[in-house]
Amino acid sequence: MAIPTYDVVVVGAGPAGSVAAYETAKEGFKTLLIERDHSPGWFNACGGGIGYFIKELYDIPDDIAGRAINKIEVVLHNRRKTYESDKPLFLTMQRPRFDKWFAERAVGAGARLLTSHKALDYDPYHRVLTVLRREDGERIQFKGQIFIFADGARTLAWRSCRLGLSPTMPMHFGISQELTLPNPPHDKFEFIFDEVRLPYGYFWVFPRETALHVGVGGPARQLQAGMVHLLREWLDTREDLKGLTSERNTGGLIPAF
Ligand SMILES: Cc1cc2nc3c(=O)[nH]c(=O)nc-3n(C[C@H](O)[C@H](O)[C@H](O)COP(=O)(O)OP(=O)(O)OC[C@H]3O[C@@H](n4cnc5c(N)ncnc54)[C@H](O)[C@@H]3O)c2cc1C
Repeated sequence: MAIPTYDVVVVGAGPAGSVAAYETAKEGFKTLLIERDHSPGWFNACGGGIGYFIKELYDIPDDIAGRAINKIEVVLHNRRKTYESDKPLFLTMQRPRFDKWFAERAVGAGARLLTSHKALDYDPYHRVLTVLRREDGERIQFKGQIFIFADGARTLAWRSCRLGLSPTMPMHFGISQELTLPNPPHDKFEFIFDEVRLPYGYFWVFPRETALHVGVGGPARQLQAGMVHLLREWLDTREDLKGLTSERNTGGLIPAF
């Protein structure tokens, strides 16, 4: 059987992949968008904090964009600095909704989206991608003129073409939790640099309508093993966060050097 062929094959329906697929499909290129999860953004690690300008840039509806925030607080050496604007500066969104919206936007522009399909191997000489179809474990193939690897920090493009970030490159690692707290009184983004607990990283608190995103990030080599414990220990130092339970835990690499 002939291998299905596309002008553009995009691997990964995170925000980068879905925006790329939207742009190519909109221009009339036959585009395939492949995502390993059953729904885009389901497991993607994120604190949910993004610049407000993104809402305007992509015309994102309010229920997808999340809560608008106009205040930031940075704590460094136990000193606090607050910045407040009369305009919204940031949004706190939820990745499962946010990524799904971007993927559907690409589909609306004409792209074909395949979820629960994991790219396993890429042959750059024949421009063939081998994909695992998760529902039945079948391996299927797609050909493309152009491949866009938007599959995160540990990209298949490195394994197949040595493009992107090498696995030996020092990276940052972060974990994020969503603490259940309906109508949190918190109204600002907090970035806390605590040089005793975490010399080269920071903790964050980002409020949503029904939860608080909290997390910790820093150099992977230094932190990966004890991060959940470190975050829990730090949360216990905060009267407002102590004892809250997490409804969603995610973690992942952050390409920061
Ligand atoms: C703990 C943590 C907190 C963060 N907080 C924030 C924040 O608050 N604000 C912010 O702006 N950024 C934050 N980031 C960074 C942010 O998550 C990334 O910059 C962003 O997700 C990158 O988007 P992307 O589309 O390039 O990749 P991703 O979002 O990683 O998307 C890659 C997609 O590819 C899919 N995929 C991977 N491999 C395959 C494969 N083999 N086959 C098919 N599909 C595949 C994945 O399932 C995923 O959907 C955070 C990161 C971490 C780890």
